[in-house]
Amino acid sequence: MSEPSNPNDLRITIIGSSGTYSSADSACSSYLLRTSTTTVLVDAGPGSSMELQRQVDLGEIDAIVLSHEHPDHWTEMPSLYHAYRYGIEILGLPVFGTAGTKVRLDAVSPDATATAFAWTTIDESSAFSIGDMAFTFSATDHPVETLAIRIASGGVAVAYSADTGPAWSPKDFGNHIDLIVYETTLPTELEEAKIPHVSGRQAGERAAAAGIKTLVLTHVPPGHDPTERAAAIGETFSGTVEIAVPGATFRP
Ligand SMILES: [Zn+2]
Ligand SMILES: [Zn+2]
Repeated sequence: MSEPSNPNDLRITIIGSSGTYSSADSACSSYLLRTSTTTVLVDAGPGSSMELQRQVDLGEIDAIVLSHEHPDHWTEMPSLYHAYRYGIEILGLPVFGTAGTKVRLDAVSPDATATAFAWTTIDESSAFSIGDMAFTFSATDHPVETLAIRIASGGVAVAYSADTGPAWSPKDFGNHIDLIVYETTLPTELEEAKIPHVSGRQAGERAAAAGIKTLVLTHVPPGHDPTERAAAIGETFSGTVEIAVPGATFRP
């Protein structure tokens, strides 16, 4: 006999967590949000369709949401376009992204946003539901329009920082967050280098200030040790710290 579905069954599975470019062990940013009834892909960084197809049938994905136009966050989309249009022959999959991301996707795959994908341009004021997930956004501190993403379902909320410098905080959502997947591109010694990303220490401080219970570290570039980013958090954050690796699933 099957058990009744848990109304608080929102979880996030890491598809790719490498920052800036793919590593030997991980594609770039890509995350799968799931409940018992809804499946949404957030970001589609290069190389991500391999792990994605280990985790889910592409036909089960209800929508794709893209954080920004930098290539490490969306350039698997031309591949996914081929998969949907010519492979599994699904047309009109809802895709949400910034205006700049559409310009770039259209340049590579001119038919994608009018065939396999049904495109909606979003900004930080956007708010919509996909199945039982409610999506809201917050513009981050990054050189192009970049949207941090909050996903709420069943009374809990997960957020994703996308890429951001230190001037953005998850408090900017103005609503509670239980778990955040936070970029930690920088080693602590580069905090002052005016690079539009944050360190583990900076992510920890901001997650603590927002009252978040679980901090998942992502977007660490190849050749850098994610455990160094976790160690750099130190006393700034007293909740649970996890490291994003492909295939790992976290629950708020
Ligand atoms: Zn990035
Ligand atoms: Zn970026």
